[in-house]
Amino acid sequence: MARVFVITGPSGVGKGTLIRGLMERLPELELSVSATTRAPRPGEQDGVDYHFLTPEEFDRRVERGDFVEHADYAGRRYGTLRSELEGRLAAGVPVVLEIEVQGARQVRAAMPEAVQVFIAPPSLAALRTRLVGRGTDDQDEVTRRLDVAEQELTAQPEFAHVVVNDRLDDALERLVAIVRDSSD
Ligand code: ADP
Ligand code: 5GP
Repeated sequence: MARVFVITGPSGVGKGTLIRGLMERLPELELSVSATTRAPRPGEQDGVDYHFLTPEEFDRRVERGDFVEHADYAGRRYGTLRSELEGRLAAGVPVVLEIEVQGARQVRAAMPEAVQVFIAPPSLAALRTRLVGRGTDDQDEVTRRLDVAEQELTAQPEFAHVVVNDRLDDALERLVAIVRDSSD
């Protein structure tokens, strides 16, 4: 059975940036497309960046048992659909999940063999600078995400692997090494 790699950590820490680099270096990896009830950002495409669902559709799919994990995050719902994992794992394709901490805990309980990596910022101030600099979230949303981030950072000791994303190149090297070393 191929591996599942969970990449977690606070919003704005650089998970998406690191995962893009990881997938360039290890092209056999495939990224699970999550479902969410948040609105698409400019340029985001349904089915590519996320499966954008209404809250009613999301609920219906929770009731049907379609999710491996799901969580509320900053007032919106996010979840990993079983359909994103099953075919790939059966075909031997390793899958990357980019999810927040509550979801990572659920995956740990359901799939203890999954490799979990927590991406940490060099400081809260750096995290704020990145979130603001990304320019995708208004001031209220940045505040909400930083509040959640303070909680999420306390979860670091739960994770077998913690990568501090200070210099991007160094963090990417560490992430690539973790994934390579834990691949079957
Ligand atoms: P996440 O997916 O965790 O929310 P992103 O990958 O969107 O985070 O990164 C948030 C912002 O921080 C982006 O503008 C990205 O270019 C920037 N960033 C990522 N890694 C670093 C780093 N090591 N140093 C400085 N800026 C970074
Ligand atoms: P964003 O709105 O910035 O795309 O994502 C907000 C947070 O939700 C990020 O921390 C991201 O990792 C997380 N997230 C994205 N997809 C999922 C998912 O399928 N499940 C969970 N639990 N979190 C997710």
